Amino acid sequence: MIPPGATLGMLGGGQLGRMTALAAARLGYRTHVFTPEPDSPCAQVCAEATVAEFTDHAALAAFAAAVDVVTLEWENVPPEALVMLAEHVPVRPGAGVLTVTRDRIHEKAFVNRLGIKTAPWRPVHSAADVDRAVGALGRPAVLKAARLGYDGKGQVLLRADSDPTAAWHHLGGGNPLDAVVEGFVDYACEISVIVARSPDGSQRGYPTVENQHEHHILARTIVPARIAPAIAAEAENIAARIAEALGVVGLLAVEMFVTRDGQVLVNEMAPRPHNSGHWTLDACATSQFEQLVRAVCGLPLGPTDRPCDAVMENLIGDQVGRWPELVAAPGARLHLYGKREVRAGRKLGHVTWLKGFGVEALG
Ligand code: AMP
Repeated sequence: MIPPGATLGMLGGGQLGRMTALAAARLGYRTHVFTPEPDSPCAQVCAEATVAEFTDHAALAAFAAAVDVVTLEWENVPPEALVMLAEHVPVRPGAGVLTVTRDRIHEKAFVNRLGIKTAPWRPVHSAADVDRAVGALGRPAVLKAARLGYDGKGQVLLRADSDPTAAWHHLGGGNPLDAVVEGFVDYACEISVIVARSPDGSQRGYPTVENQHEHHILARTIVPARIAPAIAAEAENIAARIAEALGVVGLLAVEMFVTRDGQVLVNEMAPRPHNSGHWTLDACATSQFEQLVRAVCGLPLGPTDRPCDAVMENLIGDQVGRWPELVAAPGARLHLYGKREVRAGRKLGHVTWLKGFGVEALG
């Protein structure tokens, strides 16, 4: 057990790290962030910050010596950095979990080995592979880079008239690439489940929520998901099984599609706090951020009871300009991330609307 008063090391300096550091502070922990970004959202609320590249061995060694446990808010931290840190300090989740979740090929194969369904998919490593995969899976299909994709980046839709070779070159820009082609899912809705897991193997999950994306970016999370209870229970069971099989310590967020005939298909997962769990800050007994701190420090996991239903809306790009109206609205809980530069597609804050607190007609 790592008791309050200890220092949590956070890899990555974005809003997920920021909200984790705030939750850690509430429980009496200090947070030391390691990020290449100067004046990051996380560093603004941390006791200490190291601004360095994840390849800077001297900076990593000094960081390892200064913290009691390391977690992360960005899954693309180079594996070598995690291995190096783990020689000195517990790293939770560990490099093994990240090897699976940072690569769509490993991730989908892992999920399918558990007997859990995904969209039909093929690994592809060349334009010819893409051609064969589209032949096998049909159109439309989606070509996705295996690594480093987020918010729809690194994806190309293969329509009836798309040229697979052109799509391959567009995605890779001529560089060698691992990717997947997956069948297009005509889904009824998108959902996600977040599970927390402790070093002793105890787990606690959050309820299934519904996610609406606009331009491939999460726009809105509706709590609870408007689906049949049996489907929600199946999704929660799937997320719990994956978390256990991965042996993750910390959080695991699993994004899923619900098909029109009621099947649950895993799309992707992330071993960190997730945008679709931001509502837990305001409408849950224990937020996902506090739960992450509890899990990585070996404290008992907190209750995930929900005093009310909620809708979380992201404030993306110039939507952040709505803050004067939101900060004054009854039933609205406003969170801003301290990012100075407003750019299209950039997540700058979110607002959680609490049902029953002057807000009835949501979702
Ligand atoms: P991803 O980066 O895999 O989460 O994809 C981003 C978004 O693209 C998803 O949330 C879906 O809205 C959409 N999408 C991704 N894969 C598929 C698919 N196979 N079929 C239909 N829509 C998809």
